[in-house]
Amino acid sequence: MSVRAFGSPARYIQGPDALSELGALVRLHGQRPFVVADTIVMDLLGARLEAELVEAETVTFATFGGECTAAEIDKLAAAARAAGADVVIGVGGGKAIDTAKGVRIALRTPLVIVPTIASNDSPTSRLVVVYTADHVLSEVRLMDANPDAVLVDTSIIVQAPARFFVAGIGDALSKKFEVEQCAAAGGLNFFKGRPTSLAVTIADACYRAIRADGEAAVAAVAHKTADDGVERVVEATILLSGLAFESGGLSIAHSLTRGFSTVPEVARALHGEQVALGLLVQLLAEGREADFMADMLAFYARLNLPRALEDFGVETEAVVEGIVSVSWDTAPYIRNFVQPLSKERLADAFRTLAGLRRAE
Ligand SMILES: [Zn+2]
Repeated sequence: MSVRAFGSPARYIQGPDALSELGALVRLHGQRPFVVADTIVMDLLGARLEAELVEAETVTFATFGGECTAAEIDKLAAAARAAGADVVIGVGGGKAIDTAKGVRIALRTPLVIVPTIASNDSPTSRLVVVYTADHVLSEVRLMDANPDAVLVDTSIIVQAPARFFVAGIGDALSKKFEVEQCAAAGGLNFFKGRPTSLAVTIADACYRAIRADGEAAVAAVAHKTADDGVERVVEATILLSGLAFESGGLSIAHSLTRGFSTVPEVARALHGEQVALGLLVQLLAEGREADFMADMLAFYARLNLPRALEDFGVETEAVVEGIVSVSWDTAPYIRNFVQPLSKERLADAFRTLAGLRRAE
């Protein structure tokens, strides 16, 4: 019997104007912060970040090139070393955050994560998803510990296009179903342990929060308003979603992102949009009832989440075999699944979705 394991960031702070906590938070960990952010984030927040970090000895701002590649991580790690950085701060979306995590692995310094969009489950975890320069997923690296702090300023989160917020919901929706499959199948989480019951409970709470508040929160974000519902959904899409997958484990929905990353039209979509479609495939492979699927598909439609490969601009029949085959061969957690599973069953699920989409 394997051990049970659970991990999390040491601290999580979320709310309107939470960025004003950054200076004090960073001072707990170092005096010479190295900030990884892309040019868009620097244009929006550079002056504010400088002001928040004014009490640091020195602050180095590194421009992130846009893709989390091994070369980008090496380049920024060298710059951080040259600057004598003693704490790394990753500011931005998933790829900037993952690059900051890569720098943290190289330097072994503390790490503070400041997501500016709520589009995925990356901020709280130890995972670094590394891509090739052509945007094909190449490897997943692991930090030896979770981020020291994750700071989520919801006044910034609601300024981003609503598409990012919806993608975060897509990424979070899958957790209940993936964690349940992983736990029931005796699969391991990202700490190489069995999921604790806490992780299963978190995944369930994540799903319930999104179903209860998701639609209203998307409407509020469209008006750039952070109300209580938005706060509950951001907690679900960043904190609960991250804790759930890392300590609860994954299954088919995330496994399919391996295959998706080989189809350019789908690879260009946001991670959460890919996971959302992957979840529908998983639910069909689970043999869910028609009523359950209809309810889920209607929820997807109201949020404008993808419901078939055609929503990414590709024909299911043209790409389905390749997607299933790459996922089957390369995703380590595709077998965290209790029902009988085969490549044919997965491909059939994609075809069923395409048919349902045509009939809408
Ligand atoms: Zn994810």
